[in-house]
Amino acid sequence: MRLEGVLVVDPIDGEYVADVSIEGGKIAYIETVDRNPSALLLPGFIDIHTHGAVGVDFLESSDWKEVERFFSSNGVTTFFPTSVSTSFERMVEFLRKAERSGRFAHLEGPYIAVEKKGAQNAEYIRPATIDEVKELLNYEAFRTITMAPEVNSPDIIELLERRGVRVSLGHSNATYEETLKAYSAGARRITHFPNALRSLHHREVAITGAGFLHDFYLELITDGIHVSKEMVQLIYTIKGCDRIILITDSISATGLDDGEYELGGLRVFVKNGIAKLEDGTLAGSTLKFIDGVKNFRKFTKCDLKCLAKVSSYNAAVHMGLENKGRISKGYDADLLLLDFDLNVIEVYRNGLRIFQSS
Ligand code: FE
Repeated sequence: MRLEGVLVVDPIDGEYVADVSIEGGKIAYIETVDRNPSALLLPGFIDIHTHGAVGVDFLESSDWKEVERFFSSNGVTTFFPTSVSTSFERMVEFLRKAERSGRFAHLEGPYIAVEKKGAQNAEYIRPATIDEVKELLNYEAFRTITMAPEVNSPDIIELLERRGVRVSLGHSNATYEETLKAYSAGARRITHFPNALRSLHHREVAITGAGFLHDFYLELITDGIHVSKEMVQLIYTIKGCDRIILITDSISATGLDDGEYELGGLRVFVKNGIAKLEDGTLAGSTLKFIDGVKNFRKFTKCDLKCLAKVSSYNAAVHMGLENKGRISKGYDADLLLLDFDLNVIEVYRNGLRIFQSS
């Protein structure tokens, strides 16, 4: 198969017009051509933080087909089903489901800080124990975890990182010093920055200041609700294109009407697409990945190469997905054909078309 006369947007090589040939699910060769491009070609989006969509919650349900279809219509070709704080038994069950579906999973909690629980169920929040962590490490699907540095031992963070599980700091009230201990133990990401984190104070910059100052990847929800436009601009100005990872943090209500839903045993009310608990706490988003990408571009005026980094390449590098995130010979043919306003036209995964706009 061949995509002809497209504007290739590669996170490393940048933009150029080419014909792209796909064989055996991989990008076989790329030939530059001299003509006006008909569409943009970007690496498929990677969402490392999503709790579900279209009525499906990854923790509750085991049929993830419908969500997969919905995500592909938004340009997502790889996603990490994400849990919320729950019992150990249910975490194991969740990892088993992820394993069966051939996906990598993200455990968000329960090893977080109660003071920064956001929409996580306090009933399950607790520090990690070495026994639980060792047991979780038996599961291939276990690839990343959100935990608060101040309630967990740096030894546990070090063990997880050593065993290939990326530790993301989040739902945390950590001081700057506490954050640095986790950084030294190997943690290199912060979850939905700067939501559910101790705020930056000019005499105690806290985990938020550490996120700006040190070499962390920052997850960012660009729905215009969780983080203001100006904060996105500030993060972009300080961190640049190489350390931002766009996520949706979407919940089961995504793609559905306003109404009442559930997250981790808590009631969630969605009004005008904004998901909140009864007390007004934001409870995940109803963001479609493509809309987050459009917002990021609108807020920052970044170029397309940068957009390919924050929507795909950075997540691929951080999570060790070696064959993904680039449009280059030998990479997986996970590709998005977009028009020049960033609307999705066609989506390919392993060279197979999984979505086409009508
Ligand atoms: Fe969260």
